[in-house]
Amino acid sequence: MDFQLKGKIVLVTASSMGIGRAVAESFIQEGSSVAICARSKNQLIQTAEEIKATYGVEPLWCVCDINVEKDINNTIEVVRRDLGEIDVLVNNCGGPVSGVFENLNDENWQNAFEQVLLSSIRFSRNVIPHMKEKRWGRIINITSIAVKQPIENLMLSNSLRNGVVGFAKTLSNEVGKYNITVNNVAPGYTLTKRLYELSVSKAKVTGESHEHTLAEMAKEVPLQRLARPDEIAAAVAFLASEQAAYITGNTIQVDGGLFKGLF
Ligand code: NAD
Repeated sequence: MDFQLKGKIVLVTASSMGIGRAVAESFIQEGSSVAICARSKNQLIQTAEEIKATYGVEPLWCVCDINVEKDINNTIEVVRRDLGEIDVLVNNCGGPVSGVFENLNDENWQNAFEQVLLSSIRFSRNVIPHMKEKRWGRIINITSIAVKQPIENLMLSNSLRNGVVGFAKTLSNEVGKYNITVNNVAPGYTLTKRLYELSVSKAKVTGESHEHTLAEMAKEVPLQRLARPDEIAAAVAFLASEQAAYITGNTIQVDGGLFKGLF
């Protein structure tokens, strides 16, 4: 199926590793012009070179801390200058710190707000004027299964990600008349550095190995395995496609059936 994403200009945020990187790779495979960003210059260079070695095309990269407004504005400017106006914005972020309510202070909450919700708001604000003019645009937020089913010990993620869902739904109502769609993809347990680190910290508490912890997570999933990052990326590419033009204001879980509810 041709997703008609060839030549589209795509920015994927927080994308030097994990799900963000896999999303960037999926758009490269679709023939889009892709920009990636993250905080570490060295990691970005390495990722860009590895992508080039695999697909023969190097993504544009830009150093950006998505918690910092001037970094966000600079990233948008770099993409505009080097690739053009952004057609598809994928708002990914790093996971906020883990922890239970009594161990989290105001600074933790403020950081998580800036990372999870405010970054998505700021990037979206920057790209929407052009999307309106063009009467075409896609905004896709990477959230989490936590928006449907809170995950133990992830108070910040469980609380703030639903802010993104509320933001996306409201924004989709406001920008639908300009042919801009806004959706979320909610991954379940996906094998990335983030999940590895969460399994290591859980293993310290339980006294089991982190391999055992990951195996136990997989057992919770009806499909009996963890997701690969490219399986999350495939849903993002679909939501950006022409075929998904009538889907907006939605959250699509890619979780192997992990969410136990009906809706
Ligand atoms: P990851 O830790 O493997 O990768 C995160 C990426 O974000 C990296 O490229 C990192 O450099 C970048 N990043 C982190 N903080 C940043 C900042 N302040 N500014 C710019 N870049 C920053 O994480 P992942 O597993 O790929 O997860 C991506 C998102 O999906 C996270 O928000 C995570 O909580 C969420 N999620 C992950 C899973 C999972 O099982 N892996 C499940 C549900 C939701």
